[in-house]
Amino acid sequence: MRGGSVKMLMVMDPARCSGCDDCINACRETHGVARARKGDRMPLFCLQCHPEKAPCARICPVGAIREVDGALVVDEESCILCKLCMVACPAGMIVMNTEKKSAEKCTLCMDAEVILPACVEACKENVLKLVSLDDLAELRDRADFSEVLEEAVKIYGKKI
Ligand code: SF4
Ligand code: SF4
Repeated sequence: MRGGSVKMLMVMDPARCSGCDDCINACRETHGVARARKGDRMPLFCLQCHPEKAPCARICPVGAIREVDGALVVDEESCILCKLCMVACPAGMIVMNTEKKSAEKCTLCMDAEVILPACVEACKENVLKLVSLDDLAELRDRADFSEVLEEAVKIYGKKI
């Protein structure tokens, strides 16, 4: 599993998305099932809800969805396939992996042997970027938000 405890989020630039689905296909190739899905105008990803507030984790009757290194991960051994998390997720981002007999959700590829999430790596248009919560809080009120965001992404790209 990729290490690190900094809470990261993925941000998108919808104006640049060509709808090629390379991100979704890369996710499927990496995890066996696609943890992102096609939306009307752009792909849809897990919102990475706060670990203590995420509806998927809160509803799970066996506590199978737990925080690991800043991301919520489904513990395959504990999951009883009740599908309650699927119903609870407001974004419809839980998938059932029938082969593994477990629910799955996006972990920003924390559970894969990759440096960047597979979707971020696959996007030729550079639509997807990883940022930390700290970066967002700092940038929130700045007028030159976009410029500084680009710089922050470059720095984190080197760190992870
Ligand atoms: S399907 Fe698995 S992870 Fe989802 S709520 Fe049920 S036991 Fe928890
Ligand atoms: S799977 Fe759904 S409920 Fe769970 S963290 Fe992602 S968006 Fe939130």
